[in-house]
Amino acid sequence: MAAAVARARQAQALWQASSFAERRRILYKLRDLLLDDSERLADILTGETGRPRAEVCGNELFYLCNAIGMWAKKAEEYLRPETIRPHFPLVKAKKVGCTYQPRGVIGIISPWNFPLTMTLGEAIPALMAGNAAIIKPSELTPLSALYGAELAAKAGLPKNLLQVTVGYGETGEALIDHADMIAFTGSVETGKRVMRRAAERLIPVSLELGGKDPLIVLKDADLDRAAGACVWGALMNCGQICTSIERVYVEAPVYQQFVDKVVERVRAIRQGASGDEVDLGSLTSEPQLNKIAAQVDEALARGAKLLTGGRRNPVLSGFYYEPTVLVDVDHSMGIMSEETFGPVIPIMKVRDANDALRLANDSRYGLSASVFTQNRAVAQDIAGRLDSGAVCVNDSLVNFIIPDAPMGGRKQSGFGQRHGAEGIRKFCHKKTTVTDRFGLKAEFPWYPATRKKAAQLGHLLNLLCHSGWRHKLKAFKDLIKS
Ligand code: NAD
Repeated sequence: MAAAVARARQAQALWQASSFAERRRILYKLRDLLLDDSERLADILTGETGRPRAEVCGNELFYLCNAIGMWAKKAEEYLRPETIRPHFPLVKAKKVGCTYQPRGVIGIISPWNFPLTMTLGEAIPALMAGNAAIIKPSELTPLSALYGAELAAKAGLPKNLLQVTVGYGETGEALIDHADMIAFTGSVETGKRVMRRAAERLIPVSLELGGKDPLIVLKDADLDRAAGACVWGALMNCGQICTSIERVYVEAPVYQQFVDKVVERVRAIRQGASGDEVDLGSLTSEPQLNKIAAQVDEALARGAKLLTGGRRNPVLSGFYYEPTVLVDVDHSMGIMSEETFGPVIPIMKVRDANDALRLANDSRYGLSASVFTQNRAVAQDIAGRLDSGAVCVNDSLVNFIIPDAPMGGRKQSGFGQRHGAEGIRKFCHKKTTVTDRFGLKAEFPWYPATRKKAAQLGHLLNLLCHSGWRHKLKAFKDLIKS
């Protein structure tokens, strides 16, 4: 890792001098290559994850095309030097500005759920800001990242500027020991370990961690849309998304109707092998399947009722867990309090909007949330009071595919933003430059420090800052006298 970072530093020194136009040109070429080679890309992604072919193209490729276009168009604007106008008259004579400078070598440590989006997708803004990047992909899905880096090199990215180093947790630790910043996406527990290790070197980290996203359905909601968005938001990528819908709260008058609509849709889901035309594939690993099964079994043992699914698919061989709907759940169950990361929809009946809001906020996570109502004012009010980094109104999941909008968590879902201006500025040092305008031989506060100067400064501060007119007048007279 030390050698990889040293090579990356050399490449970065030249890269930071490149223009945005040059970086843009390489990104657009990369986008063409991704599109030209989409069949091979789909083979690798489906092979690594077990997801349906249509789904990997539909989201990983969609995401990258969208994100590349956004960073290519907006990076320069986000990183434009800023002029600052000081508010205080005594320093107004200074010319003040800020610039964004690359941090150097960014370490990207990634999970397995979106093997290309979470690796190449995170590296793109880092590179666009003038950094080098070293990706440590998940040990479960390293091939997509390796392939992404290969395509980036083909697109013209200088040698060693983007490297992929595969390995387990220790490889991630070694990256923390050498990089200038860590952009980590993964579980809460690993996120804490990453932050502790980064603290030893005092390097910055951004942490995009787990979620337990709630969806609220109020009695005036369009129930068909709400049910459709709920099923898609909970089951897409087999529920292995940080912003998957993992808890549903429905107002009592429409509860039964909503549950029926969800169950009908879930029963119609076709699950199968990635090559077939199916809606739902397999989970990515056996431990993940076991974790989901244990959560569902615990909920059932505590009194939850199963409406569909609730078991490993008995027909398919592989890590297939049936899409599942549970009711009669409560917050004492892991299925409502801990991240599931699987195709499970637990639904709870609530008295009213306030009850839903209280339960939605009763979580150690705070990544995203959804609310369904036809009343825009109520939607905005609830969105404002939800303790989460993002809220979708009458929709689910879509905030992630709008890379122009910041995305990040609260509470144990982490901090630091992916996307938007902050999503690229986090990869930069912000440097302030203060320039003297007038070139005087000496400035007022410089030595020698005399009593007269101190008194004059006191008069001046009274004149400028005191809110009483009498004080101001007196300070003015004193100043003239002195
Ligand atoms: P994980 O925490 O087990 O692993 C993530 C990465 O960290 C892997 O590459 C792993 O090898 C590495 N790692 C493990 N131990 C390490 C250590 N001590 N030091 C440095 N690196 C180490 O997570 P996972 O199971 O791969 O991914 C699933 C998690 O990711 C879920 O909790 C999910 O919510 C989260 N996630 C969050 C977002 C987001 O944007 N907030 C997006 C996708 C996934």
